[in-house]
Parts: sequence; C-alpha cells; structure tokens
Amino acid sequence: MQEINLNYWRTLIATLLLAWLSTVSAVADGPAEPVWKAGVSSVKITPDGPAWMAGYASRDKPSDGVELDLYAKSLVVQDGSGETLVVVTLDLISVPGPLRKFVEQKLAETRGLKPANLLLNCSHTHSGPEIRTTDSARSGLEPERRQQAIAYVESLQKRILSSIDAAFVKLAPARLSFQKARAGFAMNRRLASEQGYRNSPNPDGRVDHDVPLLRVEDATGAIKAIVFGYACHNTTLSFYQMNGDYAGYAQQYLEEAHPGIVAMFMMGCGGDQNPYPRRKLELAKQHGRTLATAVEAGLETPKREISGSLKVTFQTADLEYADAPAKDELLQRAQSTSEHEKKYAERLLNELENGTLLTSYPAPIQVVRFGDAILFVALPGETVVDYSLRIKRENQLPGGPDVWVAGYSNDVFAYIPSLRVLLEGGYEAGGAMQYMTTVIQPGAFAPNVEDLLMKSVNQLIKATALELPVSTSE
Ligand SMILES: [Zn+2]
Repeated sequence: MQEINLNYWRTLIATLLLAWLSTVSAVADGPAEPVWKAGVSSVKITPDGPAWMAGYASRDKPSDGVELDLYAKSLVVQDGSGETLVVVTLDLISVPGPLRKFVEQKLAETRGLKPANLLLNCSHTHSGPEIRTTDSARSGLEPERRQQAIAYVESLQKRILSSIDAAFVKLAPARLSFQKARAGFAMNRRLASEQGYRNSPNPDGRVDHDVPLLRVEDATGAIKAIVFGYACHNTTLSFYQMNGDYAGYAQQYLEEAHPGIVAMFMMGCGGDQNPYPRRKLELAKQHGRTLATAVEAGLETPKREISGSLKVTFQTADLEYADAPAKDELLQRAQSTSEHEKKYAERLLNELENGTLLTSYPAPIQVVRFGDAILFVALPGETVVDYSLRIKRENQLPGGPDVWVAGYSNDVFAYIPSLRVLLEGGYEAGGAMQYMTTVIQPGAFAPNVEDLLMKSVNQLIKATALELPVSTSE
C-alpha cells in the first residue's frame, strides 16, 4: 500500500512539474520549436592553375591568375516529414545537362532522392573555367586543353558531391523566412537599331530588379545562410583572372559582414540583362557591393516566416526548334568567312548526316513550394526577363505566396527567348545558338517556345498548389 501511494505522489508531482515547465517554456520561447532542418556548406571549385575560360569566344589563351575564388555551395532543407530539397549554387558559366544528370544519379543511388529534390543554379560568370562535359563539346581541342577539360569536370563533380554531403552532415533544426529588396544596376541589353537588335544598354527595356531572399536561421535565431536572387548577366568583366563577377563579390561581402554564414547567389531570368557600366574590376566590385547592400536592406524588412511543408515537382518540357536548315543552305554557310559560322555549319552538316540533328530539347522545369510563403520556379537555360515578369504577374496574388523565379537552373543549354524576343530577332532570339557547346543547337526555337515552357510551368504550379500527383520524370 505504501509503495503504491508513493508512486501515486511521484507521478502527480512529476505531471504538475512538467505542466508548469511547459507553460514557462512556452512563455519564454515564444514560437514553437522549428519544424525545418537545414544544413549548408561551401566548397572551392577554382581550377588548380591556369585554365581556359568560358563566356567569350574571343579569348585566345588560358587564365593567368585568380582574382576571387569560385565556389559550389549547397543548402539542404528538410520539412517536418523529411521531404528534402538540395540547392546547389555554382560560380560558373553554366550547369551542363550531363553534370546535372551525374549529380542527380548519385543522389538517387546514395540517398534515394528524386530529380525533383535537386536544384542546381549557376551564376553565369564569364570569368570562370570552361565546362566541357561531352565529346562534341571537346571536339577540335588541342590534346592538352581537352585533357584539362576532362580533368576539371571530374574534379568539379567530386567537389559538388562533397559540398552536398557536408550540408547533409550539418542538418540541424532551422527557421526559414522570406524577405525581399531591390537593386537597380541590371539594364536591358537589347537595343533596337537599323541593323536589328544589338547588345547595348537599353534604359527603356524590360528589367526585373527584385532581390528575393531565403533566410535560414538556426534554432537560436542566428543566420546560417542567405540565398539571394538577381536577374542579370555576370558580365562586368572579360579579362583573364578567375572571379565570380558581381555575384562573387556580393557573396564575399555578405560572408565578411556576417561571419560564419554561407551566402548563395541564385541567378534569375537575366538572359537579356547586363550590369552597367562594365569592363573594370572596380565596377564588378561596385555592383557586388550594391547587391550586397540590397540584401542587407532586405534583411531589415519584415520576415515572412515559412511554416508548413515542402512540395517539390519537376518535369521536362519538350521545346521545339524551328525547321532545321536544309543541306544546301548549310553547305553554303560552311563557306562563310566567319570562323564560328563556318565551324557551326560543319557541325550541323555532320549531325544531319548522322541523323542526330535535334528537332526538340527536353528542358527541365522545377517548381518548389515552401509552405504558404514561397512559390519557387526554377527555369532552365538562359531565360529572358519576360519569363520572370510573366510568372510573377500571373501568380503573385494578394496574401498568396511570394513568387520567386530563377533562370539558369538544372540545364543551361541555350538562350530561351520569349515569343516577343524571338520575333524581334537578334542574339538571344537565335543568333547565339552557334556558340552553344554542350549540345549542338540546330538553330532558333519555334514560335511556340513560350507556350510550351509556360504550359509546363503552369502544370507544376497547379500541382504544388492542389497537392495533385505529378510526374517526376527525368
Ligand atoms: Zn549569356
């Protein structure tokens, strides 16, 4: 009897104590424990020693130094149910399709992740190494340069995987929130002239000056990572020193100002946007400072806390090309005095003979919903600004999630013009197709390019909103 009584009193006291403690802690802590987990890491991907650089066909020698190191940065986010998003940002010209496939397959093998769980984005810096992932991209290279290209891709793959692994190891309770600001140094670079649209600052052209931020805090409220977006080519510089251009400096300045954090740049739909003015190192730093300052301003705006769950979707949209040029026309173009035009025509003739000339391209489209707070759309290729403006205009509703549109994600294979840009003509409309190396592009896209891309985007947006099942095909 005595023992039972003792147990009764012990249980009662323990229960009362627990109830009192939970009341006290609820008052002291305010919001509930974080439901998210996050881990972040940063790995250097600057080539060891001189390397051929990507971005300008006119470069005729390898790099001669490093002005600012380049990084692969990974953020792993998990919701309460364990749904995962792996975000990798790269200070590189491109995310070649084969590079994404490699990472995707490794994550499927080692962690059972689906394509929808992985997002790769590149800053499109024109002062980084070339990334030649396919035989056709390496055809015609001197043996030494070819060997160097193969070695760099292998080392890049390893470093990206190690960065993702490090972020998984650091997974810990986290709070996520959305904030935003603006920055104005991006200007439309398509100027109408009597010779058609040329690459020149156009102060009246369309721009997207939004700077969206994903703020990642640990359970104590300390910032661990800031992901920030901007829609503008990283083309301030064109010299022979490796660096991440304005986005590289913006990340560096933020990491200096907030010791211990990882700052990650997410390229927006900046296919037709350039930073102005250009060409001097001081200007790349100045634009970087401007963007970092905008991010700091954003950090002072009201935080939109992200609750709820993560919904990840991914599918490919088959973008169709306009009719391929006929053999006769290509034979004629192969006589061109322009070295690039000549080589391009020869490659297309080769594809035509082999029956491998593309008629469409499977472009990856990804939509991620962060609770009720962010609708995140990641577009492939060098998407022009019309896409982010349109997707925000059609989906940014009062009280609804903030819409964030990234370009240059998952497979950066070519410029993707809107119908408007396609009809206007010029570099982004199809003129640049001859410079694409990973996949030989037969020519301009068909006029239905915007319709096909938007159809896929809208399907995924609908699927994330209504929790419908969605294809996660590769
Ligand atoms: Zn570009």
